Amino acid sequence: MKPAPFRYLRARTVEEALEALQDPGAKALAGGQNLLTLMNMRLARPELVVDLGGLRELRRSFDDDGQVILGALLTHRDLIEHPTLADRHPVLPEMASHIGHVAIRNRGTLGGALAHADPAGELPSAMVLLGAQVHADSLERGRRTIPAEDLFEAHYETVLEHDELITWVSVPDRGPRQGWGFVEHAHRHGDYAIAGAAVLVGTDADGRAQSVRASLLSAGETPVLVEATGRDLPDRDWEPWARSVTADLEPGVDDVDHVRDVAAGALAQAAAQAHARALAELKEQS
Ligand SMILES: Cc1cc2nc3c(=O)[nH]c(=O)nc-3n(C[C@H](O)[C@H](O)[C@H](O)COP(=O)(O)OP(=O)(O)OC[C@H]3O[C@@H](n4cnc5c(N)ncnc54)[C@H](O)[C@@H]3O)c2cc1C
Repeated sequence: MKPAPFRYLRARTVEEALEALQDPGAKALAGGQNLLTLMNMRLARPELVVDLGGLRELRRSFDDDGQVILGALLTHRDLIEHPTLADRHPVLPEMASHIGHVAIRNRGTLGGALAHADPAGELPSAMVLLGAQVHADSLERGRRTIPAEDLFEAHYETVLEHDELITWVSVPDRGPRQGWGFVEHAHRHGDYAIAGAAVLVGTDADGRAQSVRASLLSAGETPVLVEATGRDLPDRDWEPWARSVTADLEPGVDDVDHVRDVAAGALAQAAAQAHARALAELKEQS
């Protein structure tokens, strides 16, 4: 199918894009991987498409003290090939490498993936895991900063207003003695996950797990955040803990038990990976 007729504006500045988005019939276009498909199927019928592709400033990133600041137009491939993310936030390029296929990773953007708010998406979960702050601008209200875990409301729904544009995302540095893990189970590499888990495990100086922060994909209406601390965390076998955490998931699909089961497996494996990485780092430092 072809899209319904629309007007097109290629914005030259963020201000121009924000001004155009004041039109209630306008929609931002980033990588187009979701929006153009929806328009072709006539599930989206914007009257005005505001193309962000020329806003080169939003394709930059900065290594700041204590955080990395990422432009909303960085593509999934930019995240995978980023010069410092592999060191500062290795879970992020790893998760981005599981998104779709090469053509999608070349065009799809960070801001587009967050605004699209697919609970099966890797980047929404990654940003929740990492405690990222999402900066959104509008012409009328200026900038507001939204913690990633508060951005997502439901399947494909965020707290963003119609005239707001995600411009930057700040990702705070990892804590000391913290390892990461990511496991997703999909029918094929690049397919959306049946379920998946990204995990950070923090340890004490002896390598005992002290804190867990996890974000589950395809496990609910939004990325599902799991936080746990204390001495009761497992030392070796993460399976029973993962099963108890995932027992009440409501993934919103017919085969709930299957998804809970897959999520438990992914969470246990990712937590074990994260713990092992934290232990290896500890050993390296001693
Ligand atoms: C075949 C296929 C397979 C895919 N597989 C996966 C997968 O495995 N995992 C995964 O995570 N994703 C997957 N995707 C989605 C892909 O990652 C998209 O690129 C991404 O979700 C949307 O990014 P985009 O830049 O293309 O956004 P667009 O399609 O341009 O826009 C999507 C939505 O976000 C809005 N928007 C865009 N940028 C902004 C902004 N800066 N601020 C506010 N609103 C904005 C648009 O108005 C639109 O509503 C797949 C897509 C396809 C077509």
